[in-house]
Amino acid sequence: MKIMRLDKFLADSGLGTRSQVKLLIKKGLISINGETGGKPEQKIDAEQDRIFCQDKPVSSVCSFYYYMLNKPAGYVSATDDNTAPTVLSLLKDAPGKNLFPAGRLDKDTTGLLLITNDGPLAHRLLSPKNHVDKTYFVRVSGIVTSRELQLLEAGLDIGEESFTLPARARLISVLFPQESDGPVSEVELTIHEGKFHQVKRMFQAVGMPVLYLKRLSMGSLKLDASLAEGSYRPLTPEETAALK
Ligand code: URA
Repeated sequence: MKIMRLDKFLADSGLGTRSQVKLLIKKGLISINGETGGKPEQKIDAEQDRIFCQDKPVSSVCSFYYYMLNKPAGYVSATDDNTAPTVLSLLKDAPGKNLFPAGRLDKDTTGLLLITNDGPLAHRLLSPKNHVDKTYFVRVSGIVTSRELQLLEAGLDIGEESFTLPARARLISVLFPQESDGPVSEVELTIHEGKFHQVKRMFQAVGMPVLYLKRLSMGSLKLDASLAEGSYRPLTPEETAALK
């Protein structure tokens, strides 16, 4: 048994916002076990009751879609924008209505972005209360030593009265590229929150500007290494189930 309000069930199923689904109920387009005339606040059993929208089971009218995108640089994490192409323009042919990016990556950041139309799931993943881990590959200017790793891990003042929670930082390599002005370090950083420009501000706070940033994972979801930048694929049922 899964008892919940009718309007919450319909909105959670992706049929529309709370006010949109209330209108559908009012118009008599929703039936419960063959009966119309229900009320938004009415309790239903989401597992047992047969809920239909205009003669189609709600589950088949509105399904949720989940895609993993390997975001390239130059795209904004928004549904529309006047100045730059959006990540959604990369999923033009993907089935699913009202898709949106679950979270934001900066325009110049690459890597894992979940695109979905499952509002409740996105809300859970992004809620600061839930501390969902996000892991990044970061290339910075300068040599990262154990001192910087400790500072990043302990939690930092990143300005504007913002302090980061403890994080995990691992040095991958220090490089001396010929084309670069000086040494460059590569770090894997896992944070448990998502403040605005957090990774860049954390490295800024230790005096090391970020040159390149790529998200590798979010919660249980890992970027598929075979997915080229700019490409997407639906999540597997296992990946979707693990997120829920
Ligand atoms: N932190 C940043 O600074 N930028 C991103 O895009 C993601 C995390």
